[in-house]
Amino acid sequence: MSTAISLRGVSKHFDQVRAVDDLDLDIVDGEFFSMLGPSGSGKTTVLRLIAGFEEPTSGRVLLADEDVTRRPAFARDVNTVFQDYAIFPHMSVQQNVEYGLRVKKVPGAERRQRAEEALATVRLEGYADRRPHQLSGGQRQRVALARALVNRPRVLLLDEPLGALDLKLRREMQIELKEIQREVGITFVFVTHDQEEALTMSDRIAVFNEGRIEQLATPVELYERPVSAFVAGFVGTSNVFQGEVAQQLLGEEGTFVIRPEKVRMSSEAPGEARSGPAVCAAPGVVREVVYLGSTTVSVVDLDAGPTLTVSHQNTDSSIDAALERRDQRVVLSWRRDHLVSLGAAPAAPVASPEEETA
Ligand code: ADP
Ligand code: MG
Repeated sequence: MSTAISLRGVSKHFDQVRAVDDLDLDIVDGEFFSMLGPSGSGKTTVLRLIAGFEEPTSGRVLLADEDVTRRPAFARDVNTVFQDYAIFPHMSVQQNVEYGLRVKKVPGAERRQRAEEALATVRLEGYADRRPHQLSGGQRQRVALARALVNRPRVLLLDEPLGALDLKLRREMQIELKEIQREVGITFVFVTHDQEEALTMSDRIAVFNEGRIEQLATPVELYERPVSAFVAGFVGTSNVFQGEVAQQLLGEEGTFVIRPEKVRMSSEAPGEARSGPAVCAAPGVVREVVYLGSTTVSVVDLDAGPTLTVSHQNTDSSIDAALERRDQRVVLSWRRDHLVSLGAAPAAPVASPEEETA
């Protein structure tokens, strides 16, 4: 596998702000790669450094193993799609998609054919003559995508492209975008602050925190084996045990995470709560029960101190029985092998694809 993008010791400072802080990163050819993190964590700046809209304060940017650090944006084989789909309101869909090719002086017949192909890729056949104001938000974003794809870039950068869409449409577009990426085989670098979005679409995800990568992993690894409390908290809901509470409830020192869906709740007499070699058990009181359609979430105050979030699929349980548990005493239990140990260690080293396959 060859490398589409490499960042080597890249920093970007804006006065006192370290927007990007000594970043090393390798993105593989054909990968759907996401950068996930809270607002202000440096995701957009990394994208702009790759695109060439910013120059790094220090470090190097490579595209397909070529150093492009000083190369201007227009000379990089990269296209960007933004949240506010920059399309021209006075041009038809077809003209919008052809625009980049017209600038590059691609002949008319080829232009038309490539634009048609790009529109077919984004499922907009039959919309060529429409004007942007005759399209829905989702369709306008498809036009923006077609405008980028028509250039056949090696890399497509997407900065929260679905951020302006409502939830239902966003979920549909997530699935479609992933399909389109598979079809065209272009490397996608996708920025989002939405963990569910990143988990849905990505081959790998880099979790950003204050200009650094906190963890780089597949969606499954990220969820099942977060390396820090920051990642565990940002990707999914998690219950964290540390200090004396960990000692008391788990009989171990350190910091541990248990996911809400791994915790069982039963109404056996709390006096019978017994931890064993394979299972931990702890009594508490149900403070809140929230019905979410496919799942029910309960919030339980443990006698030992911490509050745990517990979730259950509503496959065959009765919601009435769950709601009746509000204010009741219960026993929570979970398997020890479902606990994720965060140890006392700081963030794990960033894995590069070469290291993983070596
Ligand atoms: P994200 O995309 O993760 O929300 P950004 O990359 O936009 O984060 O911003 C990272 C940090 O850099 C923030 O503190 C932001 O205020 C700062 N920043 C970004 N661009 C500029 C700029 N042009 N001038 C000054 N500060 C900036
Ligand atoms: Mg941003």
